[in-house]
Amino acid sequence: MTISIQGISVSRGIAIGKVHRIKDDQIDAPEYIIQKKQVTDEISRLNDAMKNAREELRAIRDRIPTSTSKNIAEFINTHLLMLEDNALTEEPIRIIKENLCNAEWALKLQCDALVNVFDEMADTYLSTRKDDIEHVVNRILRILLKQKPILDELPHEHLKNKLVVADDLTPADTVLMQHYGIAAFATEFGGSTSHTAILARNLRIPAVVGLHGAKKLIKNDDYAILDGDSGIILINPDETVLNHYKNKQKEVKKYHTSLEKLKDAPAKSIDGINITLMANIELPSDFETVRDVGAAGVGLYRTEFLYMNRKSPPSEEEHYETYIDVIKALRGLPLTIRTVDLGADKEVDGMGRRSTHMRSNPALGLRAVRLCLKEPEFFRPQLRAILRASAFGPIRIMIPMLTNLNEMQQVLHMINELKNELDNRSILYDKKIKIGGMIEVPASAICADIFAKQLDFLSIGTNDLIQYTMAIDRINDEVNYLYDPLNPAVLRLIQITINAGEKANIPVSMCGEMAGEKEHTKLLLGLGLKEFSIHPATMLEVKEIINQTNISELEELTKKALMNNNV
Ligand code: PEP
Ligand code: MG
Repeated sequence: MTISIQGISVSRGIAIGKVHRIKDDQIDAPEYIIQKKQVTDEISRLNDAMKNAREELRAIRDRIPTSTSKNIAEFINTHLLMLEDNALTEEPIRIIKENLCNAEWALKLQCDALVNVFDEMADTYLSTRKDDIEHVVNRILRILLKQKPILDELPHEHLKNKLVVADDLTPADTVLMQHYGIAAFATEFGGSTSHTAILARNLRIPAVVGLHGAKKLIKNDDYAILDGDSGIILINPDETVLNHYKNKQKEVKKYHTSLEKLKDAPAKSIDGINITLMANIELPSDFETVRDVGAAGVGLYRTEFLYMNRKSPPSEEEHYETYIDVIKALRGLPLTIRTVDLGADKEVDGMGRRSTHMRSNPALGLRAVRLCLKEPEFFRPQLRAILRASAFGPIRIMIPMLTNLNEMQQVLHMINELKNELDNRSILYDKKIKIGGMIEVPASAICADIFAKQLDFLSIGTNDLIQYTMAIDRINDEVNYLYDPLNPAVLRLIQITINAGEKANIPVSMCGEMAGEKEHTKLLLGLGLKEFSIHPATMLEVKEIINQTNISELEELTKKALMNNNV
């Protein structure tokens, strides 16, 4: 009998083959009391284990095949940086001294404390960073307990073409497994924004996560199908199911090969309307893919990752150096830097802020530009760094979560002050730098015409626009049924924004997930959208639909969608 288990799809593609189950990666930290005179030895034991963990990670980084994107090493570097962080180098030592406990237990207490902080974050991207902490701590624990790395226990050839099933996988495991030629992976835990998930997409490994209970149902050497498109794993499929998926696999392969030729083709509708396709980028590792898919530039560079895994906000110089690296990587393509979108629910160490208490309804609280204006000393270094970097390549500034005109004017004023400061110090910047705003709050969509008069471009953030229009928390499963991009209220706000941009003769882009979902492409074209900013992984699919569409024929579809939900 075929068993089917549904998880979360994180990386597309179909894989068929034998399962290899990676054994349970839970490491139980023993707890025991030590004597005062043993404290120094215990600390040395911990320090040695940390040193070994660093060496292991460096060795893995060196084993990354040269054919793999250079930036993949960034994922390993993130773990190496954690091994240098005071939270792991000093806190466990303090716990050993204070509690007179063994190194493993001190490490476990500190890991639990860090994970709790991340658990409280309502932002999915940030909350999944706790996976990284657990992976790093498990590595140290394993060394302290003299256990072998899970993957090292296997002959590597054994993993070739296998569907790997595990509790969870670290980014380092993922890189190694790709090297060993695995066909796909599935994990019991993890979310779609974990580093491992991002890596799977980058490395094009079909993957499904969040398969709760899978371990009980999947055995080693089971024959299985992993469908990364729908997030399903099918165990011991019968002949009919197997043939269906083998055909589907062939079709998908053919489809993707056929899309390749679109890389250098313009995005242009049948009736000759040019559409701009830009990329959404989050991590330095994503920049290489911008050129791979022939994107016209970066329409959304989320800068929140700069603030993670650290105690204080990045300095102006750190911002500046990062942006310069990005500009170099883009070799002349335009870069839209979104100023930091943290706050309230997205409290991270790296914000270095004083007010840390949580409020109810954090999504409606002090976040993004609201936080930046309340704490200008937190905002200015980023703005100044963007301005300085703009002397070296085409950069645009994009402000998230604008709600009223006063906020916009305050930001514009602050940018002008910084420009004057730079002028006084004879520091170069792009004097005509374009400043745009994200339209992701209904209030700003309704008044988009007023914003459009003072800004150089608008970008519709549907992820938030849908949440605020439908009065639901975008990460709350219980109200997820209301998270509907096709609700006429959402579509009307999108249309108002596009019309406002057209009237003011400024570009309007869409950078929320909706822009990259090909089932919505025609409707968005019908609403008049001319610029899409999407994840590189789905860009060619969207381009294909654009190139097959006659926009002048979409009037009926668009009218219907604006009136009801059944398009
Ligand atoms: C959005 O809200 O659509 C958006 C692109 O921003 P984020 O998902 O980072 O909030
Ligand atoms: Mg947003």
